[in-house]
Amino acid sequence: MSFKRVLIANRGEIALRILRALREMEIEVAIIHGREDRLSLPVRLSDVAVPIYRDNPLDSYLDVEAVVEAAKTVSADAVHPGYGFLAENANFVRRLEEEGITFIGPSADVITLLGDKIEARAAMEAAGLPVAKGSSEPVSDAEVASTLADEIGYPVIIKAAAGGGGIGMQIVTSADQFESALNLCQSRARSAFGDERVFVEKYIEGAQHVEFQVLGDGKDAIHFGERFCSIQRRHQKLVEEGPWLSDEKRSEIGDLVCRGAEAVGYKGLATFEFLRDAHGEFYFLEVNPRVQVEHTVTELITGHNLVQMGIRIAEGGNLPLSQEEIVWKGHAIQCRLNAEDPRQFIPSPGRLWDCHFPAGYGIRVDTHAHIGYDMPGCFDSLLAKLLTWGHTREEAIARMRSALDETILVGVDNLVPLHRRIMDEKDFLSRDITIQYIEMHEDLLG
Ligand code: ADP
Repeated sequence: MSFKRVLIANRGEIALRILRALREMEIEVAIIHGREDRLSLPVRLSDVAVPIYRDNPLDSYLDVEAVVEAAKTVSADAVHPGYGFLAENANFVRRLEEEGITFIGPSADVITLLGDKIEARAAMEAAGLPVAKGSSEPVSDAEVASTLADEIGYPVIIKAAAGGGGIGMQIVTSADQFESALNLCQSRARSAFGDERVFVEKYIEGAQHVEFQVLGDGKDAIHFGERFCSIQRRHQKLVEEGPWLSDEKRSEIGDLVCRGAEAVGYKGLATFEFLRDAHGEFYFLEVNPRVQVEHTVTELITGHNLVQMGIRIAEGGNLPLSQEEIVWKGHAIQCRLNAEDPRQFIPSPGRLWDCHFPAGYGIRVDTHAHIGYDMPGCFDSLLAKLLTWGHTREEAIARMRSALDETILVGVDNLVPLHRRIMDEKDFLSRDITIQYIEMHEDLLG
């Protein structure tokens, strides 16, 4: 079935990204929006826009029944959730199913399975993926936890089963810390996710974050290689790049992630996240069952339009490529230009009095920003994604320096100065980067 009209249930740069993909496919674009976004680019460029105004601006994009109603009102064949908001809400997927509307993403059952880190770990371990040593069931008793930690060795990390955004995680280095660390993690998990189940896992020291891009059609899966995303603040990525691994390692882990996706009947785009320790060993972390902010890096190095592929799969198509047809060329880097102060990462909403983004050979900018844009304070602070491509990493970095120097953003604090310093930093240049990079280079914060 070909979609005639798709509703975008999102905002900002990803709404614009999806809109462009739909336009090229000659699919009509409908979009929901809150009051704050009524003048935004994706809303102005859409064919049909459905306002959902709420006192709490987030509710405009989180009200399941209102979004389902909007999809029915505009006679959408499908809904694209983007990332965040309802993208991983199994109840939303079920409601759309009941109404005969396609959700562009995996099934509700797969979302439920992958949304539970304990279940997801077990499923991926069974499929042959390497996982860090840890508990296969929820842990609530300090004595049980400390017996487990004696087996796997300190330090360990306590994480919420329903976790996301790094919320509640506690690192434990000795048995006497368990009582309070368990309580803290459980109470954070209860208030953030309404689910207090937590589990214990080996804490990987000196780790790098490496993730794999996957596309499944419900039966088979292919992978588009890896992205390296270790430069993070508060467990949120700031710089992403690829490729990172040797061809041998890429195909070894790539085979495993495809097997993992096939084991759960995965349909659509997915990202398999791993930590890689100082010895090069991989440990599965989680699957993100949706398009990711950094899918753009993979698009630049493989030349494939991932968002369109995800839409074609939702239409009922098979995998459009064989694994052998996917090749990687050159190197790409993405800098997230958040509207935040580049020292403490505090959001900096406001009006863009002036705004100019770089362009030219090997440069891509995904943004909904423009002169006069009023960046609201109530949503994510991602203002623009600046990407450069080069034949080599060095060329991509040189192009990024020049592109950052050309970027003009007046009116909001932003991360351009931080990224500019990272591009000159010697550990970054020599690829000596772990997830502690920002903490270990506080001088970069200016
Ligand atoms: P969330 O879903 O909350 O984002 P993840 O499991 O994806 O949680 O982990 C997010 C980040 O937390 C990782 O990128 C890493 O920085 C840190 N982390 C998670 N598990 C471990 C671990 N076992 N050892 C070391 N760091 C970890």
